[in-house]
Formats: sequence, C-alpha cells, structure tokens
Amino acid sequence: MSECGKTEVIDGVGILTINSPPVNALGYKTRVALDEGFREFADDDAVKAIVLICEGRTFFAGADISEFGQPPRGPELKAVFDIIENGSKPVIAAIHGTALGGGYELALICHYRIAIPSAKVGLPEVALGLLPGAGGTQRLPRIVGVPAALDIMTGGKPVAASKALSLGMIDAMAEEGKLREDAIAFARKILAEGKPLQRVRDRQDMVEPSRGHPEIYADYLKKNARKFRGFKAPFNIVKAIEAAAELPFDEGKLRERELFEELVASTESAAQRYFFFAERETAKVPDVPKDTPVIPVNSVGIIGAGTMGGGIAMNFLNAGIPVTLVEMKQEALDRGIGVIRKNYENTAAKGRMTAEQVEQCMALITPALSIDVLSEADLIIEAVFEDIEVKKNLFGQIDKVAKQGAILASNTSYLDLNAIAGATSRPEYVVGMHFFSPANVMRLLEVVRGEKTSKEVIATAMKLAKKIGKVPVLAGVCDGFIANRVMTVRGKIAEQLVQQGPTPQEIDKALYDYGFAMGPFQMSDLVGLDVIKTQGRSLRGDLVALGRLGQKKNGGFYDYDEKRNATPSPVAAKVIADLAKENGAKQIGSLSAEEIVAQLLYPVVNEGAHVLDEGIALRACDVDVACLLGYNWPVYTGGPMFWADTVGLQKVVDGLKAMGIEPSKLLVEKAASGGSFTR
Ligand code: NAD
Repeated sequence: MSECGKTEVIDGVGILTINSPPVNALGYKTRVALDEGFREFADDDAVKAIVLICEGRTFFAGADISEFGQPPRGPELKAVFDIIENGSKPVIAAIHGTALGGGYELALICHYRIAIPSAKVGLPEVALGLLPGAGGTQRLPRIVGVPAALDIMTGGKPVAASKALSLGMIDAMAEEGKLREDAIAFARKILAEGKPLQRVRDRQDMVEPSRGHPEIYADYLKKNARKFRGFKAPFNIVKAIEAAAELPFDEGKLRERELFEELVASTESAAQRYFFFAERETAKVPDVPKDTPVIPVNSVGIIGAGTMGGGIAMNFLNAGIPVTLVEMKQEALDRGIGVIRKNYENTAAKGRMTAEQVEQCMALITPALSIDVLSEADLIIEAVFEDIEVKKNLFGQIDKVAKQGAILASNTSYLDLNAIAGATSRPEYVVGMHFFSPANVMRLLEVVRGEKTSKEVIATAMKLAKKIGKVPVLAGVCDGFIANRVMTVRGKIAEQLVQQGPTPQEIDKALYDYGFAMGPFQMSDLVGLDVIKTQGRSLRGDLVALGRLGQKKNGGFYDYDEKRNATPSPVAAKVIADLAKENGAKQIGSLSAEEIVAQLLYPVVNEGAHVLDEGIALRACDVDVACLLGYNWPVYTGGPMFWADTVGLQKVVDGLKAMGIEPSKLLVEKAASGGSFTR
C-alpha cells in the first residue's frame, strides 16, 4: 500500500484513509493510494461498502500545484475517478475541513457524501476565471438542481455544511469529532436499505424540471448582468450547466471540457489567476526577511475621528484590538463614535453581525480628547487634516507622549513621510499606513517606507495588515505613493480630453465599458466637486464657482433629477467650451471608446512604469494590486501593468508619443526588448 494510504475493514465496510500533508492534495502519491486502495477493496468480498476519509486538517484539496508544468506521473486523476465511480460498491466521502474545487469534485464522484458541521464544500473556480473542469458542472446540477447549481458555481463561495445539507450537496451530517464512526454507520445503513447503487452521473430527477427551458439561463444572466459584466467564467459556467440539463452525461462532459479550455486560454482568466498570486506576492519585501522580529501590537491609538479615523478604528475593533480614539473637540468625538456605531448597527441589521458583537466592538473603544492618554499604545495612527505643518506639529507632540518602541504611523495620502518622521526623535519608528476610503471596506493598505523606517516596523505593519484583513503593498515616499499617484493621472487627462471634443458622457461610458464602476466625471459628481481642491483654474473649480457641487447640489458635470438620474448638462458643456477656448485646447472631435480608453489609461501605465523605475513600488504586480484594491480597477484586465502587457508595450509607447507624452525609460526599454511587466 502506498505510503499515504491505509485500508481496514470494519463490519463489512472498507475504510480508506489518506494522509498526505499538508492538505491532502491530489498529487502523485495520493493518486497511487486511491488507486491501490479502491482496487484492493474491489477484490475483497468481505467489503460491501467503502468510506473515503482523510487525516490531517482537511478533506482533499484540489490538484497538487507543485505538479503543474511537470510531466505526468502515475495514475491519471481521471482514471482514479473512474475506478471510484464505476465500482460495484457504494462509496461514501467523509468530509472534514474543506472540500473545495477538485476536492469537492472528487466527493461528487463518490455515491454519497457525509460531513461534520464545521466542514465547508464548494466549487470556487469562478474566482480564478475558470469552471470546475473535472465533471463538477455536470454532476452538481444532478444533485442540487439547476437553479442552486447556478448560484453555487457562479458565486464560488464555500458553503457551510448545514446549508450544503439543505441544498443536497451532502447527504448526511456527522457529529463533530465522530466523522469516521458516523460515516461507517451511514455505510451500514445504506447496505441495510439495499437500494441499487446510483452514480451521480446517472441521476436525472433534479435536472429534468429544467430541461427544455432555455429561458432559465437567459433570465439568470439578465438578473446578474451587473455582477457578471466583463467576466467570462460565469457565462461559460451557465452554458456548462445548461449542457448538464440538456445533454447525456458524456456529451455534457465534453462540452464542459471545451468551455474549460476556452477559459484557460482567455485573457480574463489569465488576469484573474495572475491577480490571485499577485495578492499574495505583495506581502513579500526582499530585504525584510520572513523571520524579521515584529513588534507586538495589542493596543492602538488613532488621532482624528473623521472620515478615515473612524473607518481605520473599525478594522482594529473587528480584530479584537482595543482602540483609543482621540479628537480635538467633544462634538467631533461624539460624531466620530456615532458613525462607527451606526456602521455596525447597519451591518447587524443586515444579519451579518449580532447585537452582542456590536456591543463587543464598541466596548473596545476608549474616547479621548488629548493625545496624552496614548502613552501606552503600541501603535499610534494619525488621521488628521492633510496639511504638512499640522502633521509635523502633531508628530512632534506624539514623540513626547508615546512610549519607546511604539510605532508611529501616518495615514497621509500625498505628503512627505520623511518630513513627518523628521519632526520626531525616532524616524525609524515612523511609517505610513495609507488606508483607502471607506477604510473599513477597502482592502488595500499601502505601507509607506520612509528613508529611516526600520525593518522591524515594516515587518510589523505588513503582518498587521493581514491580521486586520487588508492586503499590504509596500510603497516608497513620493507625492501620492502608488495608487493615488498613478490613478490621479487618469483624472487629469480626462479634464484635458473633455476640452478637446469628447463629451463627459462619451468618456465615462468608455471607462464603464472597460470595466470601471463609473467614469471620472460620474465619480467627481458623486464625491462632490468641492472635495478635492484644485490649484489654479480648473473645470471643477469653474463648476463649483457656479454653485454646481455634483449630485449633492445643483448637479456637476451632469444634471440630475430627483431620483439622481443623470442627463447631459448644457451648463457644464458651456463651462467646458469656455475653458477650452481660454486654454486654446486643440479640437479633435469625437473619439472611439477604444481611443478614449487608450488616451486615459496609457498615461496610467506610464506613471506605473515611473513608479517602478523610481523604486516606489517593488514589482509591477504591486502597482496592479494597488489599483485593483484601491481604485476598483477591473480584475479581469489584471490591472494597468498586466493590461499593458496584453495590449503590447510598443503599442502603448507609440500611443503615448502620439499624445505628446514622453514614455518612461523602463517602458521604452521593455517595449524595445520585447519584454513585459508581468510575465
Ligand atoms: P476629516 O476631515 O474627515 O477628518 C480629520 C479629523 O481630524 C477631523 O475630525 C478633525 O477634527 C481631526 N483633527 C484634526 N487635527 C486634530 C488633532 N490635532 N487632534 C485630534 N484630532 C484632530 O479627514 P479625512 O478624510 O478623515 O482625512 C484624514 C487623513 O487621511 C488625511 O491625511 C487624508 O489625506 C487621509 N486620507 C483620506 C482619504 C479620504 O478618502 N478621505 C483616503 C486616504 C487617506
């Protein structure tokens, strides 16, 4: 018997136990153990039913990623699956931990599934732009029906055992800690009932009601149009599920293969798979090794309870870390704490938190009106007004109050962190922790490394980010760090372009169709034209001067009715035309959507290349992760740098030159050498 498999027979039930740490991936050794175990039981007349169970922390994970790109070895997965499914004895998958992706597809090959309450099952392939390609799209609808299968596979979320039981994804629930005994008892019960053995692939009862109803799929796609926009995988999943209902199993399986191959070859899936790894990569800082000591953070002080301070506080409260929140005036403090409470209560009203949890979080806040109370805080985060003198002054005061060894962080969006650190006697403890708004929601945390920030402080901030559910991206000091710096370019170009002929509607629509939630002018109107101050004369400034502040007052780039429906604004059009005339803007007329996207996003790519060239970002994937998680750049394009690689770097260079923009040295070099940013 292979080294990771063990067989025994109890009371007519053969038990095959697999133990292939860390996650029982379906690699070579596991496949051998499955193959040998099932053959042994097939030949043993004493065995009437089989329980397949795993040791260690979980049921089978999917394929073994260490085998990717290696020549195939040992029994193929498909051959192993066939032996399990086509045997003459019922096989019961006994699930603990998770059975996701390939792991759950293996469970679907079995004739029955039993799980403990803490287990989770599911088919999450959609998150990588793929579909379950080992029969999952054909088997799942046969046990849960088409409507549930659509939600499970296009959503991709792990399903808790109790819900899985009600949906039919598992057949029985075992008692926690008693999976083995309960699975054996379940097997005995099946034998006692003496029902004919049924393979999932042969079942028709659950798909029959949907057969001959193409409208189910059309309606489903229509209902989810917003959610699926730009992605490819949900559409192929829906087609594969339709095939499960309409075609005999083997034909459906071929259709699944075709649709899977199509996804593997698609840019959308390549981008999503790239992003999956990129998100993990950004935590690595080459000169800050994994074993760098970290500073324990058990208490946090936050200064400023405005838009950002409150949101930042919630991250720590959610992680059970007490926060002292400091404001200048009682009124501002009460308002800040009131907003936090309201946010939690809204979450509770949606059923995502209990009333008790709300109180537990709120009990972790200590309100204060002076920073003197922060003398024992392990980490102090400043989130006051964006003004360098205010921040320098405050850091001078914090330096006097904070204990030695405390981390002093600023949430500044654009300011010089080195100047802020210079206001203290301990610049090695000063770091930028740049959250994005809303800070309790957005997953990006830029960790800004000052000239003197110590490695321990960087290591601590990167680890802490993960603890509070953020994805850390390390940034060097410059105006705007990574995300704000590269994305600000888009807004500036949009203001220039709109003066040259393309309308706000045309520009917004082009970016919406590219995959952003909205275009730059819709965004300005939503946020408020007066929020971001501009220097010198600007379109926004001119509109504000006319009292047009956006959706909140008199409209902005658009006019709005009482339901906030936008229509093109003749007033805004005149403001644009007047400023264009004053600036002598060259008129180019309308542009195609593709040209608009190139005009707006090539400069973003160029700025990303500058950021890399200057060492502000460590890797191209860090720029992409920052734009994706900080600005909701569409994931199926991979972010600006990945996208530029798919467009072709020479095309980007030529496009920039045609716009009169000097391409960065790095971009030009890469284009000339046939290189790329992300491959
Ligand atoms: P805000 O005006 O909403 O809040 C600032 C708060 O700080 C106010 O409530 C003010 O009373 C308080 N404050 C000022 N000086 C103080 C002091 N000495 N002691 C205690 N409290 C003091 O501003 P905001 O939008 O929360 O921005 C705060 C910081 O976060 C800025 O540096 C900003 O650039 C940065 N930031 C903002 C955003 C955003 O989208 N709003 C995003 C990322 C970073």
